[in-house]
Amino acid sequence: MSPASNAKPFNPVLSGLPTTIFETMSRLAREHRAVNLGQGFPDDPGAEDIRAKAAEALIHGWNQYPPMMGLPETRVAVAAHYHHHQKLDLDPDNEVMITSGATEAIAGALFALIAPGDEVVLFEPLYDAYLPLVLRAGGVPKFVKLAPPEWRFNEASLAAAFSDRTKLVLFNNPLNPAGTVCPPEDLALLARFCIRHDVIAVCDEVWEHVTFDNAGHMPLMALEGMRERTVKIGSAGKIFSLTGWKVGFVMAAPALMKVLAKAHQFLTFTTPPNLQVAVGFGLGKPDAFFEAMRRDFQQARDYLANGLSGLGFSVLNSRGTYFLNIDIAPLGEDDDVAFCQRLVTQTGVAAIPVSAFYAGDPVRHIVRLCFAKRRETLDMALERLAKLKR
Ligand code: GLN
Repeated sequence: MSPASNAKPFNPVLSGLPTTIFETMSRLAREHRAVNLGQGFPDDPGAEDIRAKAAEALIHGWNQYPPMMGLPETRVAVAAHYHHHQKLDLDPDNEVMITSGATEAIAGALFALIAPGDEVVLFEPLYDAYLPLVLRAGGVPKFVKLAPPEWRFNEASLAAAFSDRTKLVLFNNPLNPAGTVCPPEDLALLARFCIRHDVIAVCDEVWEHVTFDNAGHMPLMALEGMRERTVKIGSAGKIFSLTGWKVGFVMAAPALMKVLAKAHQFLTFTTPPNLQVAVGFGLGKPDAFFEAMRRDFQQARDYLANGLSGLGFSVLNSRGTYFLNIDIAPLGEDDDVAFCQRLVTQTGVAAIPVSAFYAGDPVRHIVRLCFAKRRETLDMALERLAKLKR
């Protein structure tokens, strides 16, 4: 048999992509035994009772296909959770769907809603999955560029990106990697543009519970005129610090949900039932559970930020996510990729170059570090960073 020649091109969007920066950095961290402050995941095991629920449901529960939209009890728990925490009124039967992670939810929303040639507004820095998924769906990206240290948009930057050809805006708040929470007046401005141009907002709000300094979270969906045109996406992995679980939820008005379900049915169709049971249980936890999570991460943020400042690094504010950023320009560095490469191979600390979150003409002097770690882990990273030749 002759070997496959593969002379015909594969899909150009996907075949041309590099491996994601998170995977690349985690691999380098393993190879060089570096402290991994790159890919964002906590190094605590997560709440034991939630994990026990998953274990119990795996052994004693139903392990065949759950309903395509998610277990009814989990959808009820999602609706109740958002009613309690964000005052949203969602109908669990028609406005909630469980997905295999927020990434599936984002991919499904883009595939279901974008018709080839539609313009899609994206904010840079953008999470690395966004652009390939938009392009694979046939969307035409229009970028709004955000710059440190404030990472804010304004009337002029939105006006340059939105038009009557805009179908959809993909909006991440709190924003990874910036660690910012969108101020209410900016949210209101974005809502005005969505309404003016008849645009659907796909809101990646996976960090909604991971906010600090009493920043809170306001879902774009709650703003006047947005309820019928917003797809809100959440993540159990982020809410419960169990990032490997890959359980996400999508909330949208019934007309949107009908088409989102069409994408989900052929992407994954469903999500492991035991994890859905455990997530449903966790979503009903008392406020103190979520407050303790925020308090712990805020303390870790402060610990790393103070340690870094003490070593002379210029640390940017972080009000949400697992991340803080440092500005390497004052160190005389203008290439974040080369800096992170040296950091992981020579210093023994893995970080993420923020230029990876830009499509073109990137900001190259910002480096992202994950603080969602135990003290020992942060101490080891700080010890190594203290030896960085500067
Ligand atoms: N969300 C994680 C981060 O920003 C990465 C997830 C992944 O590796 N796919 O670090």
